[in-house]
Amino acid sequence: MNAFDLSRLRPRLPSPLEPVEDERFTRRGLTLALKREDLIHPDLPGNKWRKLALNLAAADGRPVLTFGGAYSNHLRAVAAAGRLLGFPTVGIVRGDELAGRPLNPSLARCAADGMRLVFVDRATYRAKNDPATRATLLERAPAGAYVVPEGGSNALAVQGCVELGRELAGAADVVAVACGTGGTLAGLAAGLGPGARTLGVPVLRGGFLGGEVRALQEAAFGGPRGDWALDERFHCGGYARVPPALDVFARDFEARHELAIERLYVAKMLLGLTTLAEEGAFPAGSRLVAVVTGAPDPPERVAGAQSAASSR
Ligand SMILES: *Cc1c(COP(=O)(O)O)cnc(C)c1O
Repeated sequence: MNAFDLSRLRPRLPSPLEPVEDERFTRRGLTLALKREDLIHPDLPGNKWRKLALNLAAADGRPVLTFGGAYSNHLRAVAAAGRLLGFPTVGIVRGDELAGRPLNPSLARCAADGMRLVFVDRATYRAKNDPATRATLLERAPAGAYVVPEGGSNALAVQGCVELGRELAGAADVVAVACGTGGTLAGLAAGLGPGARTLGVPVLRGGFLGGEVRALQEAAFGGPRGDWALDERFHCGGYARVPPALDVFARDFEARHELAIERLYVAKMLLGLTTLAEEGAFPAGSRLVAVVTGAPDPPERVAGAQSAASSR
């Protein structure tokens, strides 16, 4: 264990697996349990902990440079890790129009954790992986910075999520997970092994995610792993969109199970899993597990994310 091993932060691992009683499932002979990744660590919740663990060990205390949008959970997790473990962090933020404005609560948290925020225009942000653009961006970070890609998904991140699948192996027939970059799904499916399948619910529109997951598995394992599929029906309009019907669904789930539901990812995954159960997609006797990849923030965050999305 090196000094930049996240396990120094005393994560709650394995994360708890909590059965819930929900008649929409029990009526069909299905059981439902929640994999509480949101309880792993208060500052690095959910899949962000799993995805960063091996990357931060590899960075070994070097400055970390990464990328994200104005409401990125990944940026916040990197900033928090930098504060807790004591290494410098730089966040390249999409949108140079944000530079002159007061920071939103998410970016304010990053700054308070010591992250240097560099706002770039959208064209530069899109080109961030081109060698020339990357070199320019690296000039904004201290020398020798370790680069973690947008959303934190690279081979090490995917390998870090294998453990999530292993924790569920033998306890689940179907595991549902919300997908942004697909890195969590790619590792989870590999760790779950044979006999169980992983159901990914993309929260972005576009239908491109299957190819991304295959590429991530290729990078992490040298080829495809596990039995996984995506259901593209539950993005609810796209990233950060929370239409009223989704909010109604999430409020109802919160009332049934006394658990606050994060809207941008977790609510869409639960909506997908519940809809599929009601469509009769799972045979009676199936053990379903829903991965709770994160917890909600104070209300102003969701409101801000919606207005940021609609002004694009
Ligand atoms: C980042 C995030 C995801 C997406 O994870 P990917 O590995 O990018 O697919 C899902 N849920 C929550 C709560 C997140 O913060």
